[in-house]
Amino acid sequence: MPNSLNRCLQDDHGGDQNMAHMKHVNNLVKLRSLFKNLKYVPEPIQGYVVPSDDAHQSEYLAECDKRRAFISGFTGSAGTAVITETQACLWTDGRYFLQATKQMDDNWTLMKEGIPTTPTQGAWLSKALPAGSRVGVDPKLISYSAWKPLQTQLEAAGHSLVPVATNLIDLIWNDRPAPPKGTVEPLPLVYTGKTSKTKVEEVRTMLAEKGATLLVVTALDEVAWLLNLRGSDIAYNPVFFSYALVTMHSVHLFMDECKLTPSVRQHFNQEDLCITIHPYEKIQDVLTEQISEQEGKIWISAGASYALTSLIPDKKRVSEATPIALMKAIKNNVEIQGMINAHIRDAAALCCYFAWLEKEVVKGTVSEVSGASRLEEFRREQENFVGPSFETISSSGPNGAIIHYTPSPESDRLLTVDELYLCDSGGQYKDGTTDVTRTIHFGTPTQFEKECFTRVFKGQFFMGTSVFPTKIKGNCLDTLARKYLWDVGLDYLHGTGHGIGSFLNVHEGPMGISWRIYPEDPGLQEGMFLSNEPGFYEDGKFGIRLENICRIVPANVPYKFKDHKFLTFETVTLVPIQTKMLVREMLTDKEVAYLNDYHKQCREKVGPLLKKMGHHEAWEWLCRETEPIV
Ligand code: ZN
Ligand code: ZN
Repeated sequence: MPNSLNRCLQDDHGGDQNMAHMKHVNNLVKLRSLFKNLKYVPEPIQGYVVPSDDAHQSEYLAECDKRRAFISGFTGSAGTAVITETQACLWTDGRYFLQATKQMDDNWTLMKEGIPTTPTQGAWLSKALPAGSRVGVDPKLISYSAWKPLQTQLEAAGHSLVPVATNLIDLIWNDRPAPPKGTVEPLPLVYTGKTSKTKVEEVRTMLAEKGATLLVVTALDEVAWLLNLRGSDIAYNPVFFSYALVTMHSVHLFMDECKLTPSVRQHFNQEDLCITIHPYEKIQDVLTEQISEQEGKIWISAGASYALTSLIPDKKRVSEATPIALMKAIKNNVEIQGMINAHIRDAAALCCYFAWLEKEVVKGTVSEVSGASRLEEFRREQENFVGPSFETISSSGPNGAIIHYTPSPESDRLLTVDELYLCDSGGQYKDGTTDVTRTIHFGTPTQFEKECFTRVFKGQFFMGTSVFPTKIKGNCLDTLARKYLWDVGLDYLHGTGHGIGSFLNVHEGPMGISWRIYPEDPGLQEGMFLSNEPGFYEDGKFGIRLENICRIVPANVPYKFKDHKFLTFETVTLVPIQTKMLVREMLTDKEVAYLNDYHKQCREKVGPLLKKMGHHEAWEWLCRETEPIV
């Protein structure tokens, strides 16, 4: 699934348009009435920012944290709502322009990020507000790195940005869901490859190198990875609401007591980890205490909330990607093998699905929604499967052009032999996380569709086979995947690659491959896993995307410039690319040889599992789809 700098999510908005309109107007009126209510705001405000974030700056949100969706009606994962006394605007990126336009009523103005004429929130507010205005925001829900530039821009225009500790949306959201209390389970060493005690020791070594004596862990996947625990508080992401503090001598975990099952306590004993558990709400208090006790520096991600970051004096703060972010991104040997194995099983499920579709689509009975649930059934047959890693993007024809489309009963379309079908889906397995996109045609594609598909394939091949020096920023590779589209004046409005967790979040930093620079990108390194997912989208007609997960491995090169290590990608996704969609004349011999070899691997690695499971039709489909082309 494509990811720009952050965020992506499901779509649960629907219902009667007029009702929705009334609801949103009322909510805006209610929200504005709080701007001058001194019970909730420290002083009157003239504007209020509603970010997408939760208190952990998570990409996927629990229902109770979907505040921006509640106020604006726009349910996409990326976006910031800004409400003044007279206007309401929503900023989002290219993946969501169509969706936002559909979902928001006429009280709202869409501000298209990534288009040069669109002002930043700070620039827009600076002009739109009366002189000397104050703009409020919940300091837990805005990252320090987002707070700073907004504050600077507002102050330059004579306004100010003020933290409003009481969340104003929560005050008007009457039926706001309760925070989740999902179960937490230990993840055994056979899947993690490293005890949490060892991980904590490695973290301490990295802290010492920076002169730091305290690490503040706020990202939910970082806490889960460090402690070898997995949760179920957020759909698709096996994480749980928590914070952790790691000092040179202690580990503090902040989580809801009711999630602390005997198996979790036993796990801490087994892993020989001395840990102090505090209530989740105590993080600010204990952090404040710890800050005063620490002699050394305090390390916190630049992406952490303003509320926590601002507790740490500037001169004591190390503000960069945490050591955990990098350790988690570079998979150990157990995690690497787990990812490889999970991708074989995941490919088997997709082969079953596509073979089934080939039979069923002609009957005109498969829709986007019913197809997606059939696919999930096939995944459920696979060992170690836990659940989908994000909501399946099952899209036919024009719906394929909505980059983060997820089918709903209102938008559902039948799959036909006349249109392209784009399927982007993934699974959470105990040994790995998958994310794969294939675009297929069940009839006769047009020449233009084939040309675009071929260009997307060539870009994926070009980047996927590139050799690059270690630690080069992912940003440097992005152009390779776009080249054959740019050649003819085409492009796509999303990044090319994102990191992926090991039974963790489907989008994982700190590195990524995008035309935008990832602010905390440590550079591409051996053992990282990233997606390679170029695409092309013709609004109102069709969408094409091909997505593989790749592992970074050493490259076999004859020279060694200044002793630098050179790397390349090894594709771990093993699902056939539909050769019918390729224009043979546009392919070089090298590309054909690569594709034939890739298909041979799909057949050799996935075939035996299909046979073992008795999926003969899928096995036959796999054989047909992996026939070499000449
Ligand atoms: Zn995907
Ligand atoms: Zn992806």
